[in-house]
Amino acid sequence: MLISIVFSVGLYRVSSDDLDRNINNQVSYYRGFLSPFDLNNYSQIRQHQLNQDRSHLKANLIALNVVVFALGGVVSYALARRTLEPIEESLEAQKRFAADASHELRTPLTAMQSETEVALRDPKISKTEAVALLKSNLEEVAKLRDLSDGLLRLANQNGKSGSVHDVDLPVAAKAAVERLSKAAESKNIKITEKYAAARTRGDKQNLVDLTAILLDNAIKYSPSGSEVIVSTNQRGKHGVLRVEDHGQGIAAVDLPRIFERFYRADTSRNKDQADGYGLGLALARKIAEAHNGHIEVKSTVGKGSTFTVYLPAS
Ligand code: ADP
Repeated sequence: MLISIVFSVGLYRVSSDDLDRNINNQVSYYRGFLSPFDLNNYSQIRQHQLNQDRSHLKANLIALNVVVFALGGVVSYALARRTLEPIEESLEAQKRFAADASHELRTPLTAMQSETEVALRDPKISKTEAVALLKSNLEEVAKLRDLSDGLLRLANQNGKSGSVHDVDLPVAAKAAVERLSKAAESKNIKITEKYAAARTRGDKQNLVDLTAILLDNAIKYSPSGSEVIVSTNQRGKHGVLRVEDHGQGIAAVDLPRIFERFYRADTSRNKDQADGYGLGLALARKIAEAHNGHIEVKSTVGKGSTFTVYLPAS
């Protein structure tokens, strides 16, 4: 706007001086032909025209500046909105995250507080009851620790793939199966491994964590005695890692949201909170994306789910 005003004032001055000079030249030219009276009249007419021209020029320049001001305002507003939008979104996401995290923290804390208060109000509390209370509190503490571990892992997974090496996907998958073999055994779930050669570049530990999250879910959300299949293969430009279960499945309404932080499908929401906090798949997706990969899920309620991770082949 300032540039436009300076430019307009300059233009006005230069044009006005030019017009002045022009009239003076004309008047001096006619001095030889016209009587002093006619010359005076001629000079007055030209001066009048000059004043009109100046007013026109001034009006046009003012109109131009008003248009520049209005356009500049609209464009600046649009640009400012565009720049601020991602910042607003990330602030909003942070707020939501803090609200969700404190909501999840409150549940075990409230349980511990009310149990302890009830016990303290009972003067005749027996040793057995006190031990039961401490055990219950310990369970809640374990839940809080799991939650804080999950939050920390999510915060530390900053979108980068950590140390980058060639990773053999069957080796990573086997490590995850080993990590969860006890959980599978205790639910009498059979893990079948079907490995074909597949490689990617990335952080092996992160890829083991990613497989373990999918496997952990497959075990958690499957009935005892069922089968979970872990497989790898190379497809085109991708190393593929797949975890398939024959469990409860995921409803179509929940599917688009299961990768959101703290999202738990209704069926699992009613279950004991020890099952999780809805952070696993959010972390799994972050790890896949940090490796320039992605996760796809297919699921049918009552039949089971298949999670497939596509990673760039090395
Ligand atoms: P959680 O800790 O609740 O398991 P996740 O982020 O790992 O959190 O999963 C989010 C939700 O997606 C779960 O609460 C569950 O409802 C659903 N889900 C994930 N994996 C499976 C699966 N293999 N079978 C059925 N439901 C699943």
